[in-house]
Amino acid sequence: MKFGNYVAEQFDDIRILRYQVPAFEHLTLKEKILVYYLSRAASAGRDILWDQNNEYNIELRRILERILLDYTGNRECDEFRHFVVYAKKVFFANGLHHHYSMDKFVPRFSAAYFRNLTEAVGQPEAFARLERIMFDPGFMAKRVVLDGDKDVVEASANNYYQGVTQKEAERFYAAKQRDVERPVSVGLNSTLVKREGKVEEDVWKMGGKYGDCIENIVFWLEKAKEYACNERQADIIGILIEYYRTGNLALFDDFSIAWLKEKEGKVDFINGFIEVYGDPLGLKGSWEAVVQIVDDEACKRTSRLAENALWFEENAPVEARFKRMEVSGITARVMQVAQLGGDCYPATPIGINLPNSEWIRERYGSKSVTFDNITYAYHMASLNSGVTDEFAYSDEEKERSREYGYLAGNIHTDLHECLGHGSGKMLSGVTTEVLKNYYSTLEEARADLFALYYILDPKLEELGIIPSIQVGMCEYDTYIRNGLLVQLTRIKPGDKLEEAHMRNRQLIAQWAYNQGLSDRVIEKVSENGKTYFVIRDYQALRALFGKLLAEIQRIKSEGDYEAARQLIERYGVDVDGELHCEVLKRYERLNVPPYAGFINPEYRLVEKEGRITDVEVVYPEDYLTQMLHL
Ligand code: ZN
Repeated sequence: MKFGNYVAEQFDDIRILRYQVPAFEHLTLKEKILVYYLSRAASAGRDILWDQNNEYNIELRRILERILLDYTGNRECDEFRHFVVYAKKVFFANGLHHHYSMDKFVPRFSAAYFRNLTEAVGQPEAFARLERIMFDPGFMAKRVVLDGDKDVVEASANNYYQGVTQKEAERFYAAKQRDVERPVSVGLNSTLVKREGKVEEDVWKMGGKYGDCIENIVFWLEKAKEYACNERQADIIGILIEYYRTGNLALFDDFSIAWLKEKEGKVDFINGFIEVYGDPLGLKGSWEAVVQIVDDEACKRTSRLAENALWFEENAPVEARFKRMEVSGITARVMQVAQLGGDCYPATPIGINLPNSEWIRERYGSKSVTFDNITYAYHMASLNSGVTDEFAYSDEEKERSREYGYLAGNIHTDLHECLGHGSGKMLSGVTTEVLKNYYSTLEEARADLFALYYILDPKLEELGIIPSIQVGMCEYDTYIRNGLLVQLTRIKPGDKLEEAHMRNRQLIAQWAYNQGLSDRVIEKVSENGKTYFVIRDYQALRALFGKLLAEIQRIKSEGDYEAARQLIERYGVDVDGELHCEVLKRYERLNVPPYAGFINPEYRLVEKEGRITDVEVVYPEDYLTQMLHL
């Protein structure tokens, strides 16, 4: 099958990409039908997420759709073009706040123009109801507010709490009885409301809040259940249906435990109220769904790593007392996404590790999945973006990136997820909590360093995981280039680094650059007003990564907060203002938006005489068409 363009279009700060699902072609008919029904279930909860994000979102979407479909006036003027961009942004963000910054969108057309549009399609009342939310920038300005000086519940524009203060919400959940052995995730599946002075939950379930949507999800799950890959998976879908019927959170835990144990089926899925980033109190789960198919070839790679996990642990450049004696329970699967839904669409993660419940993770482990058709689409889209050509110094480096960049990135992720996070141990009595706000950055750095140290190890060639040491060198080029230059394109002038992954990448790259100065391990080169960082000695850089890994493992194992603070504050936070300016200018000329999301494939049943004989997959090319027909 021909699949030419991975980039469908771009607008504002967004790029719309497409992904392919080659693994679908190798499924049996039964498995294909399962993908079809799970995909329908993955689309069925869309309105839940929209309403969770803000109470005006669904009404806003309806009028935007209506105007886009029905408006017969002038579509060639600037104001209408601005209107279309606004609509595309709202569709992308599943509401009128930016999916990443959480800031409310500011329309570039006037309120008077919007009033005309609503009148032209016969819906003037929509204007009256939406004028304030769309055009008053101070009203519901941010979807999630984390500023500790404020009442974060009242200040956040999400729709998880209605008429409730932060104190009231905290008091309500503190008073909830919890099972010590199996503490459920309280508040995960409900809106907290105040009625006649009383605080109570509207539970998301059949017959309850979002009941219509949930009924629809359950309808498709019932069908999917008949085509489950195995009996265990049929049971898992059954528990999920029961949970959607009753809203009973203990059933969601039962589901999660059964789900993380199921590793045989070719098709797997996520469907439910999962991540809590949209709630400043971190309780409410936004609705999301993914349907995924095992990539057998790529899984051979991760299982070869998993089989040799103990070798990697024993040979890691860290003190013996911080090492594990045995390594078990590693399950990392490489999958291809077949459908994205809810909070995973159009913007999507490149991998997931679930469930989130801490007691389940400790007792039963977790399931870690990476989506390699998504990373492949990113890679294909990046080939012609010009970013590597702009920031890589030599032709050799650029050529290596074209040849090995995709493989190197995937193997880095495998090593990071599958071995890095699972390596090492805490000294007894030490918990990660003592590292407080520095924990995430430190932990990500640890996993990255584990990956970087081993990606240049001859062992990988020996295991047949990489074809050549060039793969490791390519990853070193990319990592240094990204940590010191490219990732700065994601922040605004004057900003410092806040996000944990960004901090960790700069920490590692900056530390290695500084430590290697006298030996010229990494050289800073200026040419024609452009700055480059060029690796001169790969083996020496590897030794430096090993040295930093040893120190960061020590900090984690001992819970040395002060050392973590100093290391991260010194290398991972501040940005060289002049260099940042230069990078932003160079990047701007390339015209590549910093955020991306995806158009979904669509599946169609082929029926003959009432029997399903095949499932076809098609890859739509137009973003807006897909958005309007969901
Ligand atoms: Zn990680």
